[in-house]
Amino acid sequence: MEIDYKTLIENMTDGLYLVDKNRFITHWNKAAESITGYTAEEVVGKRCMDNILVHVDEEGRSLCRGLCPLARAIKDGKSRQTHAYLHHKLGHRVPVLIRTLPIRDKSDAIVGGAELFSDAGSRRVLVDRIRDLEKLAIIDDLTGLSNRRYMEKELEGSLQEYLRYGMNIGILFMDIDHFKKFNDTYGHIAGDMVLKAVARTILSSQRPFDHFGRWGGEEIVGIVRNVDAKALKTLGNRYRYLIEKSIIHYEGKSLHVAVSVGATLMRETDTMSVVIKRADQLMYTSKQNGRNQLTLG
Ligand code: GH3
Ligand code: MG
Ligand code: MG
Repeated sequence: MEIDYKTLIENMTDGLYLVDKNRFITHWNKAAESITGYTAEEVVGKRCMDNILVHVDEEGRSLCRGLCPLARAIKDGKSRQTHAYLHHKLGHRVPVLIRTLPIRDKSDAIVGGAELFSDAGSRRVLVDRIRDLEKLAIIDDLTGLSNRRYMEKELEGSLQEYLRYGMNIGILFMDIDHFKKFNDTYGHIAGDMVLKAVARTILSSQRPFDHFGRWGGEEIVGIVRNVDAKALKTLGNRYRYLIEKSIIHYEGKSLHVAVSVGATLMRETDTMSVVIKRADQLMYTSKQNGRNQLTLG
């Protein structure tokens, strides 16, 4: 099997950059671009400490001089993992989980280093958010998803984040297909089970920086971060497939469920109600086109 490592690296969801022995950046992948705001063109050939990422630890101490984990990996050949804050091109700090490792040539000599970083902010935000949820009891009892009120708060927050920092944010609006049929055929309890199963599928497969909530009866809204239109479509379809492939056992029967999805990215002219309405209408188009599908718009 021939592996196209270059494409693999470009499509990773983790940011990755490589440096030579003197810590001059030689490679910078797409995820690194989206997490930091810097394009490969802007940073390749520079040193990471040249006012680009300027890593700091949780106390704000610079990691770039003396303590730099990448320099240590190049020096002693050991891999490391640490939490740090990168400097985003727009000026704000981005919390990341960093892993650094040495790069060796065929004779095992260290010729450079690699730094992998994933967006840890969302994970941290998630922890805070869980505390919030506990305090305010804003989880939907039946599904375990966030409730409508909390989703509205999240949507407002995300919209502000998007307008301020220009980070792409996608909305997925999902509605269970022919849900009434479950209630009518098997009763309300079976309907509840189906709804719970859909929510469980979403909760167990969501990325840490995505957030789903129950919008209405059998409608679920997702706020997904760090996506372009193509990635939003792929992600939305992934949830749709996972839901479609789940089997709900009820009184000896195997029930199947599907959702119709509307997917859209936030736009500069959006308000919360405008973006939700657009996503809802796109979901409705999916219904009209035969259900169990996603419409992007
Ligand atoms: P469509 O594919 O067009 O979406 O068809 P549908 O049957 O899902 O359409 P509709 O939106 O009209 O039906 C939704 C039904 O969901 C109506 C309501 O009785 C039921 N429902 C809403 N909330 C709950 C709930 O918490 N539990 C149960 N069991 N049923 C619910
Ligand atoms: Mg509905
Ligand atoms: Mg429905």
